[in-house]
Amino acid sequence: MTSRPRILVTGAGGFIGHHLVRRLRKDGCWVRGVDLKHPEFEPAAADEFEILDLRKWDNCLEATRGGVAQVYSLAADMGGIGYITSYLADIFRNNILINTHMLEASRVNGVRRFLFSSSACVYPSFLQKSADVTPLKEDDAIPADPEPGYGWEKLATEELCRYYRKDHGLETRVVRFHNVYGPLGTYDGGKEKSPAALCRKVALAQNGDEVEIWGDGKQTRSYMYVDDCVEGLVRLMASECHEPLNMGTDRLVTIDGLLEIISGLAGKRLHIAHDLKKPQGVRGRNSDNTRLREQLGWEPGTPLEDGLRTTYLWIEKELGKAGRLPQRGKLQEKDAPV
Ligand code: NAD
Repeated sequence: MTSRPRILVTGAGGFIGHHLVRRLRKDGCWVRGVDLKHPEFEPAAADEFEILDLRKWDNCLEATRGGVAQVYSLAADMGGIGYITSYLADIFRNNILINTHMLEASRVNGVRRFLFSSSACVYPSFLQKSADVTPLKEDDAIPADPEPGYGWEKLATEELCRYYRKDHGLETRVVRFHNVYGPLGTYDGGKEKSPAALCRKVALAQNGDEVEIWGDGKQTRSYMYVDDCVEGLVRLMASECHEPLNMGTDRLVTIDGLLEIISGLAGKRLHIAHDLKKPQGVRGRNSDNTRLREQLGWEPGTPLEDGLRTTYLWIEKELGKAGRLPQRGKLQEKDAPV
């Protein structure tokens, strides 16, 4: 056995998990990645990668075996707003099975720290009715009225993490992500989130085309670049923060505004068609980063334009490889930030 810290990342075939594995390996850790699938766009960087369905108890025991000291628990059935509003029962059931089994298997196998990836979807809908929303503080989650299905499960597992810490001494950490985006994430097929979907639509459009936006485009969100997300995860795991912690930026942008930034980067003039029949989620959502700054002495710093440029270029390149681009975009790869 090696003396390097032994770390398990679940959901390592997914977007954030894959980036996190790369970062932990760079830091010199020994990493086991587990997922239902391999990473889609490049090989996993993990020392070991196992295909396991973590809804099953035996697989959770297998994943946490062999002296794993820390678990980053990212595996989840999830997707964009269209997906999470369509499959309430499946999402709740799949995720509660993964998380209850993973927490108990971690306890049984002597894991010391367990980081659960929760979501801003735990926040009550009654606090998110205005586009000019007051940034959400961690304590706003209770009294509860979270996103049906996905958000209720996240909130339940947050509580379970608290109970495992109190009753069993498992050092749990809970992060609430606010819209993470970046390269190497799903950009097509229904599970993609808004930045990736809009980058795809802009890349596939020609000057003067119409681009469809779900809702009236005035709904607001804040967005965090994936490198910042990974930095925050590593810092949170090492911290003594036992309470749920927001992780996001506090720059509020409308969906129309997001499209404008992306089309500007691509050098395309596009018209917006709003589809009011499509789900658009809460009216406004922003992150209050007071606790984040206090606890980690840090907050995400990548400007939205920089992160979107890298993301757009990557998606444009992928579409090009698939032979789907109508024309080469204005940005060339040499313009991409490293
Ligand atoms: P993702 O969908 O890319 O990754 C999740 C991974 O979990 C997928 O690769 C999937 O195959 C895997 N998985 C699903 N069911 C599984 C099972 N039964 N057994 C094993 N693996 C399984 O999503 P992501 O964006 O990388 O998100 C990672 C975590 O962060 C998730 O828990 C998600 O809920 C949370 N989160 C993400 C965001 C965001 O903006 N990306 C926002 C809030 C919360």
